[in-house]
Amino acid sequence: MVGTKGFAPLTSSMSKKRSTPELSARFRILYYLLSPTSAKLRSSVYLGAHVSISGGFDKCLDRIVNLGGNCLMTFASPPRTLKTKNFSAAEIADYLRKKAEYKLGPHFFHASYLINLASESSAYVKASIASVIYYQRLAGTINAQGTILHIGSHKGQGLTATINQIVASVNYILDSSPKGIKLILENTAGQGGTVGVTFEELSEIIKRVGDRSKIGICLDTQHAFASGYQLGTALERFDRQIGLKFLSVIHLNDSATDFASRRDRHANLGEGKIGLENLRDFIDKCKSATKICPPLILEVPGDNHTGPRKTDLDILKSLAN
Ligand SMILES: [Zn+2]
Repeated sequence: MVGTKGFAPLTSSMSKKRSTPELSARFRILYYLLSPTSAKLRSSVYLGAHVSISGGFDKCLDRIVNLGGNCLMTFASPPRTLKTKNFSAAEIADYLRKKAEYKLGPHFFHASYLINLASESSAYVKASIASVIYYQRLAGTINAQGTILHIGSHKGQGLTATINQIVASVNYILDSSPKGIKLILENTAGQGGTVGVTFEELSEIIKRVGDRSKIGICLDTQHAFASGYQLGTALERFDRQIGLKFLSVIHLNDSATDFASRRDRHANLGEGKIGLENLRDFIDKCKSATKICPPLILEVPGDNHTGPRKTDLDILKSLAN
């Protein structure tokens, strides 16, 4: 817990001061961290982070509790392969018992980074589909929300050339997914011809999906910023082009690269080009635009790319409270 002794709570006049350019990013982070609410989860919004399952599947739950989050995202297999991993009944039972004990909220899976539903190789598409179905079935077993997916890359061919194949693959995955388990498509920064760089592209795919009750969208703030969406108006545009009812989860990240750079490089909150004020404003807008603000999940590098730290969760809490 961050000590608050000797520091006044944030007042509206201090909030104004906070946005003045002469305050360094580091100093502003300190102010957010020293807010009296920062170490508590007073927000009704679920706040969490991407954590590892290494050392045992249930260890992800200990990790998110140690960070101070109440929801989480994990892989379910090595992320840079399409290999799947079988968990024993005892491992699943340990996970379920511990999750109930900790009273944790939603668990999202993130699919392997190697998935490509737009690949020219039908064997590769089949392997990608099999990997995602494995994730979806495991999500059903552990009562997770579903799988967040980078759709893949059309490698410059454009969405039109690949959309039939993508939609057929998505429909196949949905037909093979347990009831109530969502396939959650993530917007991308746009590098290397990745599909989902605009809300129009995601909307085109969703419109053609058979069972839309099983489809969701993950909005990544770094990807949105890098693909040319100002965060101040991103949700309005999302609502017009896709519909906020599809917004299942938010990856809340700062950006190490410039606006519209089309480069996927996450930064710790307050240490990137988006900045704390814009992230806070985005969360405020999300809370007022949605009946229930979707879970906010950090995918930030932490120290030396070891992943989100307790400090990062504390900053997130102070932004969301
Ligand atoms: Zn993301």
